[in-house]
Amino acid sequence: MHPTPEKVTLITGASRGIGRAIAERLAQDGFAVVVNYAKSADQAQALVQRLTQQGGRALAVQGDVSRQADVITLFERAVAEFGRLDVLVNNAGIGAFGVPLENITDTHYDALFNTNVRGLIYASQAASQHFGDSGGHIINLSSVVGNRPAPYSAVYAATKAAVDSLTKSFAAELGPRRIRVNAVAPSLTETDGTAGMPAAFREHITQTTALGRLGTAPDIAGVVALLASPATGLMARFCTPMGACGGNPCSFHRQLVFQPIGSSAQAAEAHRRLDSRQTTGKPVFLP
Ligand code: NDP
Repeated sequence: MHPTPEKVTLITGASRGIGRAIAERLAQDGFAVVVNYAKSADQAQALVQRLTQQGGRALAVQGDVSRQADVITLFERAVAEFGRLDVLVNNAGIGAFGVPLENITDTHYDALFNTNVRGLIYASQAASQHFGDSGGHIINLSSVVGNRPAPYSAVYAATKAAVDSLTKSFAAELGPRRIRVNAVAPSLTETDGTAGMPAAFREHITQTTALGRLGTAPDIAGVVALLASPATGLMARFCTPMGACGGNPCSFHRQLVFQPIGSSAQAAEAHRRLDSRQTTGKPVFLP
């Protein structure tokens, strides 16, 4: 029987990308880590194995955050294994870009809101029930688009605006129980989820950053670790933007289209023009 660890974190969607980097970073900081995943069992198990070999404690638990029964079981397993919970990172999320208004369907809306918003609410409810008397910490993954929405990603941006709003509401509500709630709002960050984005868009975002580079998952994990530490003990109801700091995303988005969801002849033509822009350097305007 292992002793109860001093601090325990549960990270939703930790099999890949930013979530995995957060798991690695918080394990380095001495947390026992619950690695939640939806589909990527092999990657989640490999991460747990690596963290354990490095001397940490970790557990992979499958669960779709958009399903309340899964979330309840996820937290019960976490507390049964480690005996406590201190930090929830609401990282699981789906991004969708290149979706014009006319292509927004019920399926698209439900997929994004069910995972990015409903899942965050379910997990926050469960965590607030499992935090002890000394409180806890909820850290939400928002996005810069929550505050600066752009064309062709309306529903995704709306989910992240909802995340920002929920962060503030829950912070005010849970503060008296010493539960701090904060958010991190990355700009474009190199992960599987953003690998397919057009080179011209990546270059544009790079140009809007102060440091002249895109974010990496460890960059985001470092800020999450800071928010989870006593160093930020007075911070609550706070959203940390990271990355792009300038530019005019609206005008640029109107000239570009991302990989469309639900292909159409118009989107294919826009892509052809985008390709041509990348080779000729001339701006492209969508029909
Ligand atoms: P990835 O697509 O690389 O990884 C997503 C992770 O979320 C995977 O581990 C996936 O698990 C998990 N996941 C997806 N749906 C569910 C679900 N219903 N239940 C449980 N787990 C789920 O994403 P990123 O790392 O790029 O993004 C992580 C977070 O950061 C998201 O909330 C995203 O919106 C936000 N963000 C990302 C930015 C970026 O540029 N990358 C910028 C701003 C915000 P599995 O593989 O098992 O399906």
